[in-house]
Amino acid sequence: MNSSSRRSFFKKALASSASLMPLATFGTAYEASIQQAPKLSAPSDLKITSIKCGYIRNGHSLFVKVYTNQDIWGCGEGVDATPGTYHLVKMFEARIKGKNPLNVNRLFEDIRRSGFFEGAQSGMFVAVLTAVETALWDIAGKALGVPVYQLLGGKFRDKIRVYCDTALYQANLPTPKDFANSALEVKKMGFNAIKFDLDQRNDPNKYDLYNWTASPGELQRMVDQIAAAREAVGPNIDLCVDMHGRYDAPTAQAIAKRLEPFNLMWLEEPIPAENPEAYKAITESTSTPICAGENHYLAYGFRRLLELNAVDIIMPDLQKAGGLGEGQRIANLANLYYVPFAPHMVASYLGAMASCHVCASVPNFMILEWQIYFHKDPMFKEIVKFDGPMVENGFIALSEKPGIGVEINEEGMRKYATPGVPFFE
Ligand SMILES: [Mg+2]
Repeated sequence: MNSSSRRSFFKKALASSASLMPLATFGTAYEASIQQAPKLSAPSDLKITSIKCGYIRNGHSLFVKVYTNQDIWGCGEGVDATPGTYHLVKMFEARIKGKNPLNVNRLFEDIRRSGFFEGAQSGMFVAVLTAVETALWDIAGKALGVPVYQLLGGKFRDKIRVYCDTALYQANLPTPKDFANSALEVKKMGFNAIKFDLDQRNDPNKYDLYNWTASPGELQRMVDQIAAAREAVGPNIDLCVDMHGRYDAPTAQAIAKRLEPFNLMWLEEPIPAENPEAYKAITESTSTPICAGENHYLAYGFRRLLELNAVDIIMPDLQKAGGLGEGQRIANLANLYYVPFAPHMVASYLGAMASCHVCASVPNFMILEWQIYFHKDPMFKEIVKFDGPMVENGFIALSEKPGIGVEINEEGMRKYATPGVPFFE
């Protein structure tokens, strides 16, 4: 190749690469292609038009509906870290309006990254993001005609085992006999796993309302309550107990040790959430499995707990920790450490079924939380629309409908709406 032909070769090479991939328009073309739904999807040109929301339970339950230009909407729920977040919902609406809802993980990242300086690491920001992200999965499932678990890679199981939280609140000073009766009631309802709360701020045995040390009388009260429940249901029912992070490390070690004879499925949050090293010391001190996670956010929040082997079981709340995709990422992360995934769940049946799609999609799913309020408080049937029984013999049948398979019933929910906040306007 002489010098002139070499020059013309470079010229041609430059011209052809410019025509194939003009730098000025590369970003636009790429953007346009990923904003297009796959050709086989139905409908194929979805765009988000608005997000509307409602709150119940004094703002502690957020329900969102994400609307599109094609009469498909998605439902999502956020819990606990949601009071006062109406304007956060509207801010997220502005950020994803006009975008294709089928790019769920990308929209999740767009909102999260746009909020690095707004608190996107945890708390209310993540709880609201969770509700919106869940609604996007619901839209994607409906648009493509498949249940959400299918979008998450398919299912390991058709039905999801649940444990029933008895809501035998310690504030009512329940006796060991109350524990036994409650355990028997839940067992008769068909559940083979039961959870009790053990923390009691107003326990008359307490010496101090502000320190987190249980007195000998408190410890004995806890042991007597669990002993009565175990004796009532026998050895083949799983029992777990929750302390809601309201005790200190020595109390946690003492109660974990004293509950060892009762073969608990787990002891949950004996101390607050912030200190993984303190969890590790408790976990190593006892044969009682230690569980935490309902106050941890995003996969980042679980990294250190898992790296340290600080807990035996993780229990992210899938209506709070980041959403269904993030829930699956947390479960998969835990699976690397052979740690079971047992999600916390204090939502409506919408949140319960949304959680079920994640639980179905991961190998290390252990058990999901269920609440006795579904059976006792009519509100929980009025605020959603769904097919079939909610739960049977301790299992939820995974929905096979497109999307999540449970809808918000705005008319049924309206009378429970938290006052002073716009309701699906
Ligand atoms: Mg808990």
